[in-house]
Amino acid sequence: MENTIIDKSKPVMLTGATGYVAGWIVKKLLKQGFTVHAPVRDINNVEKLKYLNEIAADAVGSIKYFEADLLKEGSYDEAAKGCEIIFHTASPFSMEVKDPMKELVEPALLGTENVLNTANKTESVKRVVLTSSCAAIIGDAKDCLTLPNNTATEKDWNFSSTVNHQAYSYSKTIAEKKAWKINKNQSRWDLVVINPSFVIGPGINPNGSSESFSLVRQMGDGQLKTGVPEFFVGVIDVRDLADAHLKVAFNPQSKGRHIISNQEVSFLQLSKILQKEFGDKYPFPKRELPKFLVWIMAPTVGFKRKMIWLNIGYHWLVDNTKSKTELAMKYRPVEESIIDFFQQQVDAGYFKSKV
Ligand code: NAP
Repeated sequence: MENTIIDKSKPVMLTGATGYVAGWIVKKLLKQGFTVHAPVRDINNVEKLKYLNEIAADAVGSIKYFEADLLKEGSYDEAAKGCEIIFHTASPFSMEVKDPMKELVEPALLGTENVLNTANKTESVKRVVLTSSCAAIIGDAKDCLTLPNNTATEKDWNFSSTVNHQAYSYSKTIAEKKAWKINKNQSRWDLVVINPSFVIGPGINPNGSSESFSLVRQMGDGQLKTGVPEFFVGVIDVRDLADAHLKVAFNPQSKGRHIISNQEVSFLQLSKILQKEFGDKYPFPKRELPKFLVWIMAPTVGFKRKMIWLNIGYHWLVDNTKSKTELAMKYRPVEESIIDFFQQQVDAGYFKSKV
């Protein structure tokens, strides 16, 4: 496909605008003067929309809401009219689900089909920016041992997740594969994909429900005071991630997948950064728990033993070279991301200070 030139005077559509990752993308688009078409599940949810409305009130651009649901065929058609770019971020991100097929896989997969069918029907659309995940690249951390340098690149695909094991990762993998398939069956719009690692940093809405908030809240509310599992994660600041979305959207040469990840850290390293900044004010975890103990306890705290076995103690490594060379990404230090995130949760009243 030729290089894609986007007319910046046209509206852009963004799914999942009420979400954590999308909030900063909306903020940056509005700051640059775009008209953002935001299909949301509940157009009357004043509480969820208030953060977006506050940003829009001070911005050059404007936001227009439409009602849509990932599972409702054709519900994105109206919002897409006249748009050259579609950002598709909407997809549930939760580890605590009762029915993974219904709660994760179906919205991810059918939602992607639904939104991309809208792209097919809408003559103005030239590019779709899909928010996938590094979870579509690596399943369990142990899988990294099968890769050259134990490090994953954009060429790799998650081969180990299923609906019964790491269901969220599975949902992201099959949704991204479906997106590439739909893209290949037509030639009007190109697909560029963002594959973020675990997102941290302050949200537009401090009361977000994305899984990203669970870890930072548990760090300060005492749930982890006896210790943390030796988990390693790649992290990316939510503000940097929004920059990456805008860069791929408007760069005519953007192609393919993009790993967007700053660096690997362990849960204990994140806690140590917080301890250095906030001292003993909050019950931060101070040690790592033995793997066998976490393995035994796993079902009582809602985790599967297989997941614990294949992830604790294994490094989780991805190569972010493409993001630096092709997108000129500059990642802010992890210290800034986690401290700003924690401070936002303090200000929002999530923790009781001990002093
Ligand atoms: P989030 O805050 O929970 O946002 C999810 C968004 O999807 C919300 O706007 C939600 O709308 C929308 N949504 C869910 N089910 C829907 C449905 N049936 N119909 C319409 N909209 C629906 O999660 P997030 O962390 O921002 O995640 C956003 C995207 O980033 C997802 O694709 C996720 O896989 C990806 N991602 C996230 C991370 C991370 O660490 N956070 C890492 C990698 C990739 P409501 O407000 O109506 O619920």
